[in-house]
Amino acid sequence: MAGVGLSWPSKLIHRPNFTTSSPSRSSSGCSSRCAVKMTVTVDEKKAIFTLKKSEEAFNAAKELMPGGVNSPVRAFKSVGGQPILIDSVKGSHMWDIDGNEYIDYVGSWGPAIIGHADDEVLAALAETMKKGTSFGAPCLLENVLAEMVISAVPSIEMVRFVNSGTEACMGVLRLARAFTGREKIIKFEGCYHGHADPFLVKAGSGVATLGLPDSPGVPKAATAPTLSSPYNDIADVELLFETNKGEIAAVILEPVVGNSGFITPKPDFLNALRRITKENGALLIFDEVMTGFRLSYGGAQEYFGITPDLTTLGKIIGGGLPVGAYGGRREIMEMVAPAGPMYQAGTLSGNPLAMTAGIHTLKRLKEPGQYDYLDKITSELVQGILNAGKKAGHAVCGGYVSGMFGFFFTEGPVFNFEDAKKSDTAKFARFFRGMLEEGVYFAPSQFEAGFTSLAHTSEDIQRTIAAAEKVFKQI
Ligand code: PMP
Repeated sequence: MAGVGLSWPSKLIHRPNFTTSSPSRSSSGCSSRCAVKMTVTVDEKKAIFTLKKSEEAFNAAKELMPGGVNSPVRAFKSVGGQPILIDSVKGSHMWDIDGNEYIDYVGSWGPAIIGHADDEVLAALAETMKKGTSFGAPCLLENVLAEMVISAVPSIEMVRFVNSGTEACMGVLRLARAFTGREKIIKFEGCYHGHADPFLVKAGSGVATLGLPDSPGVPKAATAPTLSSPYNDIADVELLFETNKGEIAAVILEPVVGNSGFITPKPDFLNALRRITKENGALLIFDEVMTGFRLSYGGAQEYFGITPDLTTLGKIIGGGLPVGAYGGRREIMEMVAPAGPMYQAGTLSGNPLAMTAGIHTLKRLKEPGQYDYLDKITSELVQGILNAGKKAGHAVCGGYVSGMFGFFFTEGPVFNFEDAKKSDTAKFARFFRGMLEEGVYFAPSQFEAGFTSLAHTSEDIQRTIAAAEKVFKQI
């Protein structure tokens, strides 16, 4: 799999707010809870690496919450051992409750694209908070974020804010069905569109990580209209349209997959989907919960130059607060209540805090050079890791687009979920734990993408590659 992002020009990077030397607390004076400083050598650090407090707290958590967590992948089930409990985050780093410091490549699963706990975002939130946390009534901040989203994302002429990516996907599906008067949808194996019933068919993310079959509790009737196809297989999609003529409301996909590991579309895949959906009177939905404002300011649709009918967003547009959104052409969006008859609502939707964090995150992303910077550091990271892996004799492949990346322990290429499953997940688990001990936090699953941020420095990247060189030799 190639690094699609290599096509982006590497220009001089403008990086407000952080010095290029290091944005982490270590360089600017570590807080008292930061017991392990980035200045210690790798070996010194290892000698004092302990997860005792995390282990105790997680054991207690298991009695209180199913599996000890509130979202399955966090439990480290596929990489073994126990999860670390996080105490705080700043920039590209995070600290666990034992005081260990990590370079973070999860970024809260995507939202932290300008770095964790950004000073400007925190200050803006503090200001907004003085006026209250939720109104349950319209506010000006909703207009501001809506305008920013509409002017950035090519397919979006109107937008509805919700509270999570799951909610956005539920809403967009109902809308697609309402608009077309059809019920069937096509999704792709290994793509994740949240945990609503109709999408739990060959879903990625936690479902893939835990190797779960389709979840119990999902009524057959809810998934019967969900057809699934292997990613990157246009012939299969064509066949589904032929055998379900006039019945398919929409095709929904991650335009770059992040939920079965990182998988890019083949050059003509998105184009072909655009053509086939148009020819068949079906809608094309890009689930850009992960890729929106990450691959480029206008998301995957801007990056690849293909405009879907509808788009879902989440993560980044909430700047770390719970948010989601769906949007698209005006004539479709005007079906949503109260403009139209398709019902969807939310108590906390458009709340001032989420809107504020989103507005200030997008403002930073809009500054010149930000995506070039993400492209540059992510390229360095992925090349460095792949080189280190190959040098140590491992079969590895991987790729990236802007600040989204991934690698598999298989020769590749990886075009779909079946290919991804060839990865040596036991080896990935050893790699993951080795890197954790070296102070690098990757997603605790082979079937998740990684994320960089504007706060990641060259020093972070070089430290990560050095750690990978060491760990690859041990696994
Ligand atoms: N769609 C995609 C592409 C996602 O990556 C995710 C979450 N990772 C979702 C939907 C669901 O979002 P949430 O977890 O906010 O419900």
